Amino acid sequence: MKVRKINCPYCNIAMKYVGTKRIQLGKSNMIFEHLDNWLSGALPVSIYECPKCLKLEFFRYRK
Ligand SMILES: [Zn+2]
Repeated sequence: MKVRKINCPYCNIAMKYVGTKRIQLGKSNMIFEHLDNWLSGALPVSIYECPKCLKLEFFRYRK
């Protein structure tokens, strides 16, 4: 998967690619509650982080 160029919406600087992690559904219900109906188990996501304000951006990993 290609690394995207993403700017932080708050700082308007480039966000850093952290990596692709598997998020365990059920422990992250706050964020992914609406996905529970059609996904079970772990959800692979690509994570980006703003080096300044530490905002996190998630993208669901596409196989
Ligand atoms: Zn920021």
